[in-house]
Parts: sequence; C-alpha cells; structure tokens
Amino acid sequence: MFTSSHLLDLVVDETGRGIASLDPATGETIGSFRPMTVAELHESVDRAAQAQPAWASLSDAERRRFLHRAADAIEESAEALAELLSREQGKPLNGPNARFEVGGCVAWLRATAETEIPVEVIVDDETGRAEMHYRPLGVVGAISPWNWPMMISIWQIAPSLRMGNTVVLKPAETTTLSVLALVAVMNTVLPEDVLIAVPGSGGTVGDALVRSPKVSKVMFTGSTAVGKKIIEASAANVTRLTLELGGNDAGIVLPDVDPAVIAEDLFWGAFINTGQTCAALKRLYVHDDIYDRVVDELTKVAAAVPMGRGLDEANVLGPLQNRAQFTIVDELVEAAKASGARVVLGGDPDRDAVGNFYPTTLIADIDPRERLVVEEQFGPALPIIRYTDLDDVIGLANALEYGLGASVWSPDRSRALEVAARLTAGTVWINSHGGLHPLVPFGGAKQSGYGREFGLEGLKAVAEPQVISG
Ligand code: NAP
Ligand code: MG
Repeated sequence: MFTSSHLLDLVVDETGRGIASLDPATGETIGSFRPMTVAELHESVDRAAQAQPAWASLSDAERRRFLHRAADAIEESAEALAELLSREQGKPLNGPNARFEVGGCVAWLRATAETEIPVEVIVDDETGRAEMHYRPLGVVGAISPWNWPMMISIWQIAPSLRMGNTVVLKPAETTTLSVLALVAVMNTVLPEDVLIAVPGSGGTVGDALVRSPKVSKVMFTGSTAVGKKIIEASAANVTRLTLELGGNDAGIVLPDVDPAVIAEDLFWGAFINTGQTCAALKRLYVHDDIYDRVVDELTKVAAAVPMGRGLDEANVLGPLQNRAQFTIVDELVEAAKASGARVVLGGDPDRDAVGNFYPTTLIADIDPRERLVVEEQFGPALPIIRYTDLDDVIGLANALEYGLGASVWSPDRSRALEVAARLTAGTVWINSHGGLHPLVPFGGAKQSGYGREFGLEGLKAVAEPQVISG
C-alpha cells in the first residue's frame, strides 16, 4: 500500500531538469518527469517484445489472475492514486471524479479478467470444420489523453494483457505523473516488462511508438487531429489501430419530458469531469414547447453544484486540466456572446486568477451554427438550442464530422427509439448521457474513430483472428 507522497517519490525526476507537472487549481508544481528520448522508447519496445512470448505462453487463467492481482494492488493504494490524480488532473476527489476513476480502473480490470472468450465454430458439417481463435498480436502501443488518464489507460492495458500482448503506454504529457504512478502500482504484481510506461512530450515519443516495426497494434484515445496523424504513421507497417477520437455529442429533448425530472441527469451528462469527457453531452437541443422550463430547471441544478480545488471534499467540479483547454472554452463562449446568444449562467471567468477555473456556463438562444455548438468545447459550457421540427433537429445532430454518442430524452420509449435509429453515433442513450459499462462495446462513428473497446468486442480488437480449418 502506498501513500500519495510515497507514490510521487516513485515517479518524479530527481534531477529537476524534467518537465514540471502543474496543479491546475493552483499553478503549483507537483513534481517533474523526464521525457524519454526516442532511443529510450525503442529500448522499451524491445524489452516489451522480449517479454511477450513468455507472457503469451501463460495460460489464460494465469493472465486473468494477474489482472485481478493488479486490481487488488490498485484497490490497496486507491486513496493515494485518487489524491495524485486529483492534484494533477484537477478533478475533485468526490462526485464522478477521482475516486470514481480509480474505482473504474479496478472494475474494468476485473470485468476484463472475467469475460469469457468462446471458440467460435463457424462451420461444422460434411464440408469440414472451421473455428475462429484469437491469438496475441505482440506488443500493443497505448496512447492515452489527459481527461480520464488512469481509466482510459486501463481500457487499453487490460484487454491487451488479457489477450497475451505486452503493452508500452504513452501517457498524455500533462497527466504523466498520475499514469506513471498507476503503472508503478500495477508493476508491483505484474511480471517484468509486460507493462512499460514511456513518458514523453509534444508527440515525439507517441509518434515513434506508432512507427515502431515491433508494435503490432496501437490503441489511441485523443483528438481527431492526432488520430489522423496516427493513421498516416500506421501505413508503414500496416499497424492495427483502435481510435477513440473527439466527440461533440448532441442531446435531443422531446416535448413530452418533465423538465424537473430530467434536469439533474442532463446536467451530469454534460458536466461530468467539468465537461472534459469525450462522450459528454456537448450540444443540447430542446423543443420550443418546453424550452424555457428546461433552461430554468437546468440552471437551478447547475447553480448549486460546487466547483473548486479537487482536494476539498466539498467540490464536485474542478478546473480545466490545462491552460490551452481553458483558452478554447473561453474563446468559444466569447464568440457565442458576441453573436447575441443569451448567457443564463456563468460565462464570466476570472482570467487573472491562479488556476484554470472556468465557471459552470449555460448559453441559451444560440444559433445552431455558432462555434460553441459545432466545435468541441471540452469544458463546462453548454449551448442550449431551441428547435421546433424533429426532422430538422435530427439533421442538425447528424451534420457534424463527429459521431461518438448522442441521447434522446422522452418518457415515450418507442418514440425515443425511432429518433435513436436515425442518429449516426456509436452509442445512443435514452434519458441519460455518457454512462459506460465494461461489457458494453464503446466507440465512435464517422471521425470519432473506429474500432470498439470493452467486452468481448474489445478483447477481439487486441487479438489476431486465426481460423483453424480442418
Ligand atoms: P491529444 O492532443 O490528441 O493527445 C492524446 C495523446 O496523443 C497524448 O498522449 C499525446 O502526447 C499523444 N500524441 C500527440 N501527438 C502525437 C503523434 N503525432 N503521434 C502519436 N501520439 C501523439 O488529445 P488530448 O488533448 O490529450 O485529449 C483531448 C481529446 O481527446 C478530445 O478531442 C477528446 O474528445 C478526445 N477523447 C476521446 C475519447 C474517446 O473515447 N473517444 C476519450 C477521451 C478523450 P503528448 O501529450 O506528449 O503530446
Ligand atoms: Mg494534446
């Protein structure tokens, strides 16, 4: 069991020449990490490649036990991990935030360990017999983002290890210490070199990882822009890819809802992790009949939710993780204000304050073509668009390049299902937004990426299908 200062001692660079990781609530330096050189990255990949055959030769039951032991180790140091995550990412300890994220790591490891992988008998008749098996790929390169840095890393690590691959993991620059700590905890129980973290900055280490001829598959979660670079880089070695990219999820509220009943779920669908969630509700379309009441109820909920430093137990919303993200949100809201949209709540950040706090912001009566609507804000500012015609609003929801998630809100399930069937998105939630389950496939349509994570689909995605014929 580790304390949070013990964990930091394990992962910080003592020389003081590394890259400082900043607390986004205070601007203070938490500690520094030393980015790897490209040569060191290649050495790490070599070690993972050397460790892979022995890992693959373990029985499936043995690998499943290792996943459970890694989950046990995370559970024992859960509070220390949550504290470090809260300081570096900014998300509060409480609410669906840091403790929840560490708990999610444990839950995903255990569910991945428990998923059965049946041999599929495709043909078995007088013409012969053909079975599908799923073999290890080799080394998986994992590249994770800064919004849910521990949990998304686990989404990449857990299925890869289960299927007999070893993993080289590149954390996002601004949440490197949290991910190094998670990996250090897991490596107290995993065999050597089965899981190696490779810190880097500015994309250099990530790019070299994707281009390595010894990496068979890359699991990437991050922006669509970087995803496109990875697709190009994957061409040289025909490297397999799972891409979980950006999102700009629409929520469509039908006129038959009770605004007071749905307000809280609407709020958390949009503001979970202070809006820094790939599949958060990022544009809310509300029918004219109930528009004003939905805005009122949502405002009542939003105004009461405390935002502040993550280590303060009272808070459930935090700062933006980095200044660049603060600036994006600020610019999009300023543009909306200039367009004549109505600020119902927030929209008035203190730009000189320490920390990257952007207040909870609701923007009503906004033109559907405004940048805050059509660009991914990835922060605590929700545009609420008025609509009257269902066909029109479905057209608007489907008009963007993104297609990660969407939601339909109505007590009439069959009506909601009709709308859902017309939305282009990897997941459509009914009367909620953004909930994930370790056994339910998750991924995007269109430029939100390709491939699916979680459950049996997710395991198959980090394996090479092999037919045994005869
Ligand atoms: P990002 O800028 O794309 O960075 C993601 C990761 O890619 C980081 O580890 C980054 O390393 C690395 N990277 C940068 N350039 C690279 C290159 N040329 N080759 C290989 N790797 C490279 O994304 P972010 O700002 O961290 O995350 C926010 C975005 O992620 C949002 O668009 C959000 O919607 C998306 N996201 C999607 C999902 C999903 O499941 N679909 C989940 C979470 C987030 P460095 O930090 O060292 O540059
Ligand atoms: Mg980035």
